[in-house]
Amino acid sequence: MHEWAIAEAISREVEANLEKARIRRVKVILGELQNIDLDVLKQYLEMMLRDVAPNVEIDYETEEAVFKCRRCGYTWTLADSSLSEEEREAIHFVPEAVRAYVKCPKCSSPDFEVLRGRGVRLIFEVE
Ligand SMILES: [Zn+2]
Repeated sequence: MHEWAIAEAISREVEANLEKARIRRVKVILGELQNIDLDVLKQYLEMMLRDVAPNVEIDYETEEAVFKCRRCGYTWTLADSSLSEEEREAIHFVPEAVRAYVKCPKCSSPDFEVLRGRGVRLIFEVE
């Protein structure tokens, strides 16, 4: 269960920042190309923060994946890629599968970079 590890990392980050500033809210931004069960993550994180940061509000947001073709420079999103339901599902559970299914919609090159939508980012709102 990597949700536990992610919740722990977020909780540690919140704690460290609480020492420096009065944090009112934390925005947790989860990349679309990240295999995370949001309900499970929420549950763990709320449990971990209950004692250390009871007054901090947590918001969750999903960041859309954005790709950029290395050959023609075109940028597009997962929604622009014509993928089947099954392929989308595969990418959700195994984000690395994106390399197998996604191609540049303009020139069909499989050589692209992922500009956004990967990993977890935190934004702190201070009082
Ligand atoms: Zn291209």
